Amino acid sequence: PPVLVLFRDDFRLTDNPALHMACTTGQPVVCVYVQDPATRREGAIGWWLDQSRRALAEALTAQGGELLTVEGNTPDIIPELVTLFKADTVLWNRRYDPVGKEQDTALKTTLGLRQITTHSLSGRLLHEPWAVQTGSGQPYKVFTAWWRAARELGAPGRCVPAPSSLTFAAWPAAVKALATKAAAIPAPTLPEGAADAAMDWPCTEADAQDFLKDFVDDNVARYSTERDRPDKDTTSRLSPYLRAGLISARQVWHSVEAAIEKNGAISENAWTFLSELGWRDFAYMQLFYQPTLPTENLRSEFNDMPWHDDAALLKAWQHGQTGYPLVDAGMRQLYQTGWMHNRVRMVVASFLTKHLLTDWRKGEAWFHQRLVDADPAQNAMNWQWCAGTGIDASPWFRIFNPIGQSEKFDPSGAYIRTWVPELRHLPDKLIHTPWKADAALCRQIGLHLGTTYPHPIVELKAARTIALESYKNLPARQ
Ligand code: FAD
Repeated sequence: PPVLVLFRDDFRLTDNPALHMACTTGQPVVCVYVQDPATRREGAIGWWLDQSRRALAEALTAQGGELLTVEGNTPDIIPELVTLFKADTVLWNRRYDPVGKEQDTALKTTLGLRQITTHSLSGRLLHEPWAVQTGSGQPYKVFTAWWRAARELGAPGRCVPAPSSLTFAAWPAAVKALATKAAAIPAPTLPEGAADAAMDWPCTEADAQDFLKDFVDDNVARYSTERDRPDKDTTSRLSPYLRAGLISARQVWHSVEAAIEKNGAISENAWTFLSELGWRDFAYMQLFYQPTLPTENLRSEFNDMPWHDDAALLKAWQHGQTGYPLVDAGMRQLYQTGWMHNRVRMVVASFLTKHLLTDWRKGEAWFHQRLVDADPAQNAMNWQWCAGTGIDASPWFRIFNPIGQSEKFDPSGAYIRTWVPELRHLPDKLIHTPWKADAALCRQIGLHLGTTYPHPIVELKAARTIALESYKNLPARQ
């Protein structure tokens, strides 16, 4: 009898534990993807996941098989496929988000009642959320303590190879009909203005490996010193690939560890990078134990925060029209390419939640629509971190000054010039503060503040004072 392997955010053949286990059974395999309305994503991430699914489908075709794509509610459609194929086993890599967990639990129960074998395997994280706990068996609340404990577990499990050859089960006629029906569903498209994403993000498993190799060869040795520089682009840019599972965190880990073994001099930089993969696990651990992470303040005193609800300010932020060059550069990079450098993500999030006193959920939602790496755990944890509403978060009174951040991390303005071309002729010392340019210079370079580039939408000092006062006056702090 055939074995069903479910693909969900793990669109790869290498280090795919569920696929690997299916191959070791020696039974014919059915590779399944469910277009499930409960988990369908729109926006850039919807487009990216669909591209990733197509890439997997092509990789399976190259192996002489096919990816079966069907539409339906996962806990209903999979048992139906089991019947149609007369399968005896269903395998998948685990999910940690509330809907995914609930669906997979329901599936396990339904199939178990029918004596169908199921296995959920670990394919997404370095360590499962429950593998790293405090001495009293509680989830950690502080990253540094979590990371220390995670490192004590040692390296994550070894990667499993891609199957050397796959035997695919033939599709019965009723299955072919389901596949035809699913093929007619319109695919999610890139949001308006994001055409560059298609150029910046080639989408196959091999592309993910190329990004990893380039990073390990060229940039990991400079990671700690340059990772905060958006003008340098030293980070791995692996986030979309990790998000869609075109590469696994374990593959990245082992490749970087092998590089450390070859060249001990990179150790410190490389470990800083590996700790970022740790943050990814830490975010998933939070989502696993706190399913409301994307929707509710983890620190409830913020439930009384008098957030402003100013649609014009929000729109200016979304479209990179705040008048603060680094904020605008980041928001435009996001809009056009579906990605933003981490340091700039922190600056724009601080600006939105503190200087514009806007609820972090509005920023989280915009990121979710525009990012090709939009991830329920990482996006929500980081927004709560920036807003000070999460566990182990940056405190509320830590308010980034967008000018200071710009001068420090984009000193020559190269990043700003890339994304805010109307400022590109400003000299370095004025690029962070265009409103200080005198009228003659503005005329000479064709910069018309208020027309070609906005005046600052808020005054930093006043906005900062309001943010701090709002926090101080929260009822829970009285
Ligand atoms: P690298 O520096 O090369 O890091 C390697 C990998 O580690 C990343 O690909 C990512 O998977 C992980 N990582 C790095 N930084 C973090 C972090 N702070 N938290 C969790 N994991 C991290 N990352 C996402 O993948 N999806 C999101 O939706 C997302 N939303 C964010 C929202 C905000 C407000 C902020 C401040 C950060 C967000 N991040 C998110 C984290 C981080 O900005 C990106 O992972 C990183 O910029 C991706 O670039 P990279 O792959 O070159 O990172």
